[in-house]
Amino acid sequence: MRGGEPVVNEALKTRALPEGSYDYLLEFLRLYRDAVQIIVDRIWGIDEKLSWKKLHRLFYSDLMRLGFRAHHAKEIYVNAKSLMDSAKSNGGRKPVLRKLSARIDKYDYKLDLDNTTLTLKLHNNYEVKLRLVTPRERVEKFRDWSNYELVVKYEDGEFWVSIYFKRAVKPLEPRTVMAIDLNFDNVTLTVFTLDGKLIRLKKLNTPHRKILTHKIWIERIQRKYPKSWRFIKGVRKAIEKHGERIRNISWDYAHKTGNTIAKLAFRHHSVIILEDLEKLRENNKKGRRFNKKLGLWFYRRIQFCVEYEAMERNLQVAKIDPRGTSSKCPRCGGKLVEDGYRVLRCMKCGFVGDRDVTATINIYKKYISKHSRCGVFGVAPNAPKPDEAPSGMQGNKNEAMTTKS
Ligand SMILES: [Zn+2]
Repeated sequence: MRGGEPVVNEALKTRALPEGSYDYLLEFLRLYRDAVQIIVDRIWGIDEKLSWKKLHRLFYSDLMRLGFRAHHAKEIYVNAKSLMDSAKSNGGRKPVLRKLSARIDKYDYKLDLDNTTLTLKLHNNYEVKLRLVTPRERVEKFRDWSNYELVVKYEDGEFWVSIYFKRAVKPLEPRTVMAIDLNFDNVTLTVFTLDGKLIRLKKLNTPHRKILTHKIWIERIQRKYPKSWRFIKGVRKAIEKHGERIRNISWDYAHKTGNTIAKLAFRHHSVIILEDLEKLRENNKKGRRFNKKLGLWFYRRIQFCVEYEAMERNLQVAKIDPRGTSSKCPRCGGKLVEDGYRVLRCMKCGFVGDRDVTATINIYKKYISKHSRCGVFGVAPNAPKPDEAPSGMQGNKNEAMTTKS
């Protein structure tokens, strides 16, 4: 797998039944746990930074003597070190391991998807074969994936394995560009052809107002009990209830929107262009978009779902710096002023456009000006401009801007 390619990871977790005796497997898991514990005990007091090399030098030959294979040894001290690191960073005590669980490298198992069996290589050259207790369809999904590691566990008398798969995503060659503008009360998306024709426009209302109502309730309660709200059970419960509503509403919306957007982008073979929210934060520290209690967290959630759904469909996603996208004229670069409800007008060239759609045109233009230069689309840098499309767009909001170029 090459470096720059995006990768999707997923684990297949399933119960596993050893064929024949499982004595060796249990013995292996105990030995593994004890070996991790021994290493944790020995490195707990060491304050210097432990490199892999050093760990290897300290423990490799001991572990080999215990009957482990080379990659068992590596997994064991990597495991011990990460246990120690996380215990220390939480200010906790030295971990004491009880559970039987082992991480196993791809060199030490063989997965047979056709027969849904798994062969583990254990200590002292023992092997154990396990049948995976899972429906065929679940396994089928991973046929073209590669797997690189697994965890085997013994819990309440049963064996469980989690097999980690990954797959490189070969992004679809984009044929169109979808620009997405996140606003307080809507998400506006437009699809442009590579030579700048607008072929699709959609606005999805956000539940921001509903979320805000719950926020206001929370603040109202907190103001009423400024010191005590944390300690009075009923008050705290009321706040939690509103918080939960906010979480549900926002995740539901993000999932639905991510799905809608990615489906549409897939149909049009679009590369999806999002605003870089980090940049938005830097640019707009005092900006207008922030005075409205806009939840950046909510935008992040939406983008997260868009990116996830896009990746599932092998679609490309790119981010642009949103600076100026809602204040500059897409035709001449002049300053836009408000001209009635949600309409912007350019004082310089007379361009008039719906506020949200204008923002998406600017987002599209920013992306194209950056990418056409590298020859991605084979479009000359100043070939047909998207700004030729927009005209007056009062009237039907969602049909605005049928192209006339
Ligand atoms: Zn202008």
